[in-house]
Amino acid sequence: MINIPKGTKDVLPVDSYKWQYVESTARETAKLFNLKEIRTPVFEHTELFLRSVGDTTDIVTKEMYTFKDKGDRSITLKPEGTAGAVRSFVENGMGSGVLPAKMYYITPAFRYERPQAGRLREFHQFGVEIFGASGAQTDAEAILVADSLLKNLGLNVQLYINSIGCPTCRAAFNKGLKEFFAPHLDELCYDCKTRYEKNPLRLLDCKEEACKKINVSAPSILEYLCDDCAAHFEALKGYLASAGVAYEINPRIVRGLDYYTRTVFEFVSTSIGAQGTVCGGGRYDGLIEELGGNKVPAVGFAVGIERLLMVMEQTGAEIPAPSVPTVYLAGMDAECRKKAFEMATILRKNGIFAEIDHMERSVKAQFKYADKIGAKYVAVIGGNELAEGKANVKCMATGESEAVAFADMLAFFQNQ
Ligand code: ATP
Ligand code: MG
Repeated sequence: MINIPKGTKDVLPVDSYKWQYVESTARETAKLFNLKEIRTPVFEHTELFLRSVGDTTDIVTKEMYTFKDKGDRSITLKPEGTAGAVRSFVENGMGSGVLPAKMYYITPAFRYERPQAGRLREFHQFGVEIFGASGAQTDAEAILVADSLLKNLGLNVQLYINSIGCPTCRAAFNKGLKEFFAPHLDELCYDCKTRYEKNPLRLLDCKEEACKKINVSAPSILEYLCDDCAAHFEALKGYLASAGVAYEINPRIVRGLDYYTRTVFEFVSTSIGAQGTVCGGGRYDGLIEELGGNKVPAVGFAVGIERLLMVMEQTGAEIPAPSVPTVYLAGMDAECRKKAFEMATILRKNGIFAEIDHMERSVKAQFKYADKIGAKYVAVIGGNELAEGKANVKCMATGESEAVAFADMLAFFQNQ
């Protein structure tokens, strides 16, 4: 037997309604904010992620699914959704179209990680990107999209916000960080030693216990913000307050990706511990230029769908049950089953959810099956009924039965 690859999961037919519920809630939420869907390829040129995600990030240093295709090109399965959206924005000249360009995606993403609960090698994201607007109001709107979605799904989450400034204030902060970490270099993990040299900000993102302990007393970026970045952060807080969204400032949040500027944020589930971060995002004003476009500001976020579902499951958040057949047509013998097949065809053509026997079961066993799949009515066609041109229709909830002529059946079920 061939098993599923490590870190991947099947969504089974009995569970897919949960995914569909989360996805349709995400689409409906996006619509209220005038976000339109973008679909980009599952694989891109590796170069795109090297340039955008950044070569000191966990994603690029150890998590990418990269391979050579038969034409000897280096290809990478998308580890996140922003890079592809930005590539498409630039390539399709959306910058010279109507701005802001507001879009969302629902996509698989691939990262070679150590699989755990809520940490997979193939996972799925709902993400939003807003291109062309630089104000804090747009950051607030991005946060509000995520906030509405999470609330619509019944999740209890805490919003953490931070500002990581612009390249100017970050240069001063990185210097301050290096001074702080210099005496602790020996205690840092292997990766953090590289981060110290290449991108000290990344030190704050380390998940190793030893590094986390030192990080607690590291200087805060907020003390290093330039006037413009500080004003932007203040404005964001004002918009969140006016929208009635509670937040906590967490100067440790720097996000895993290299391209963020100013606002960064995370939504963390208050119900579970590990892998409780269900959403991460922020502003990335430098990325579009970095990828060959004009200087266009942008803000976005991504929600991990598996983590959403995990938290929803653990907290008992309500997921509407999938729809059930309006009617199950039971046939007693081969002739009657043929009639059931015919009737089901007519009903389905008219949009009625109908099911029939496929296993040549007895009428009794068909009843049992109909009950199991939750059919609202069972229409029994026996020899007598067939001769009289009708079915005996039983309402499963009340147990009441009535004869319904084949000719009246469509109208009968259209009224249910
Ligand atoms: P983490 O710190 O948990 O590794 P991250 O900073 O790498 O997260 P992002 O790149 O911001 O995550 O991705 C956005 C969201 O996608 C995360 O908040 C999370 O919900 C989800 N996510 C990220 N990696 C995985 C994964 N390997 N499996 C499942 N979901 C994931
Ligand atoms: Mg990660």
